[in-house]
Amino acid sequence: MIFDASTFGSDVTLDTDLVVVGSGAGGMTAAMAAAEKGVATLVLEGGEYLLPADMSQREEEMFTRLFQESGARTTKDRAVTILQGRGVGGSTLHNINLCKRIPVEIRARWARAHGLSKLPPAAWDALYDEVERLLAVTLIAPEARSAHNRMLERGVAALGWQGGGLSHNRTGCMSSGFCELGCRYNAKNNAMKVMLPRAVAAGAQVVCNCVALRVLHHGGAARGVEAVALDPLTRKPLHRMVVNAERVCLSASATGTAALLLRSGVPDRSGVTGTTLRVHPGLIAAGDFEQPLRAWEGIPQSYECTELLQLERPDDERAHRAWIVPAFAHPMGTATMVPGHGGAHRRLMERYPHLGVLTAMIHDQTAGSVRPTGEHGVSIDYWPNERDRAELSHGLWGCAKLLFAAGATRVVVPTRVPLVLSPKDDLEPLKTMAVEQGEIDLSAMHPMSSVPMGDDPARAPVGSDGKHHHLDNLWVADGSLFPSSIGVPPQISVYAMGLHVGRALAT
Ligand SMILES: Cc1cc2nc3c(=O)[nH]c(=O)nc-3n(C[C@H](O)[C@H](O)[C@H](O)COP(=O)(O)OP(=O)(O)OC[C@H]3O[C@@H](n4cnc5c(N)ncnc54)[C@H](O)[C@@H]3O)c2cc1C
Ligand code: SF4
Repeated sequence: MIFDASTFGSDVTLDTDLVVVGSGAGGMTAAMAAAEKGVATLVLEGGEYLLPADMSQREEEMFTRLFQESGARTTKDRAVTILQGRGVGGSTLHNINLCKRIPVEIRARWARAHGLSKLPPAAWDALYDEVERLLAVTLIAPEARSAHNRMLERGVAALGWQGGGLSHNRTGCMSSGFCELGCRYNAKNNAMKVMLPRAVAAGAQVVCNCVALRVLHHGGAARGVEAVALDPLTRKPLHRMVVNAERVCLSASATGTAALLLRSGVPDRSGVTGTTLRVHPGLIAAGDFEQPLRAWEGIPQSYECTELLQLERPDDERAHRAWIVPAFAHPMGTATMVPGHGGAHRRLMERYPHLGVLTAMIHDQTAGSVRPTGEHGVSIDYWPNERDRAELSHGLWGCAKLLFAAGATRVVVPTRVPLVLSPKDDLEPLKTMAVEQGEIDLSAMHPMSSVPMGDDPARAPVGSDGKHHHLDNLWVADGSLFPSSIGVPPQISVYAMGLHVGRALAT
């Protein structure tokens, strides 16, 4: 059953075996795995329960309903936009569906550095096989690539760089191009479509519009969760909920889970909780093309450039770490990224159908931090260190090279005073361009690694089965668990963590 906490009308106390906080890739999968093993499971989700018919394809409506802080979440200093989802299904409701496994070299490095005795490299492969089957992950056929993605493919071919097609989890896709606003056609094989029905069939219950405030614990063990019901429109608190549970699993994402642990005063002798956040920060460059590209149409992000992404050398300090893909571009989102004001901004927006946008996202090494703020907010501190900023500049150079190679007549870099480049310009200075706060906007949509797993309780808050080292009956199952940034889109790895931890906590 799915319940809406905003309709409860008064304070409520519930009892269950397992309470899972958050219903995204990690939480809904952990709930499904535990419920299917016979554990009485209750999922608390801070966002709404939306059906495909609710996905109106309107930016001004869907950003408010599907994204944390209506899509306006940023770091404390506002220098980096952090996009994260909310709602039953979490960020999988509006993500772009591309699927990549964490490279074996990174997994092997984790095993060497952190032990991960309960998650050996071979266990990853079995989990990935299962998740990919569940989500029907398949390569997007070359003929299904949109003009925007073919633009990148053209650039990669012209430069002789490395690139290739991407696999996605979608079935019955109409190529409408609205993935980031939720799918009206129910084509995304995501946590809501795939895991939720199975979890509910196995007896799990889900309560939406219900934000967990803290983990209740005493005597060295978690005992449940205190939560608040929110009005779905105003997000104002309505009434309190207490869930008494034998086991608590936190899956509120890499920001939400770290903030909850810290707000609850959960002990952590390693002192690591909330201090090792990675986000895959990215920046963009836009190309202006003679022929319209109509970048908003078709399946987004079906082609990648990996020339500047040398993940197979994780121990090599000189290895490049920038991943380049087309960036999705609806009118409102584009207008916020297009630089300039008044007439200059308008003239660029008039070129909207002709714009192609690439983003360079980096496999970051910077450790950011997450703290709780207010009654249930999160505060994020993150600005890339010098080496990561150098990778971002290098990635920006790569984007400009690719856009010109694909035929752009000019390339615009959205610095505070926009940088407009022509095909004859020397692009080398971009490689060392200063990336400075307030001068260029960064954005990130892959928060992770804030509560990393490791065998040694002195160095890690959580074990490699997701069990908290320092408080009994407590588990973590989301992107927080990765011991470092992963350099590839995280969703299938988070789904894999959901399966792994959901089964571990059920036994
Ligand atoms: C725009 C966008 C596009 C993306 N595209 C891709 C892609 O193509 N491929 C890919 O691999 N990855 C993609 N990602 C990332 C991917 O979706 C996430 O890494 C993944 O969903 C993270 O899973 P999670 O379980 O950690 O968190 P989430 O899926 O974010 O779920 C966390 C849930 O917890 C809820 N929550 C938080 N705090 C509380 C609380 N206190 N109480 C109750 N509930 C709470 C939230 O509302 C949310 O529903 C994208 C992300 C974004 C934002
Ligand atoms: S492109 Fe496909 S998956 Fe994305 S919103 Fe349209 S139909 Fe849904």
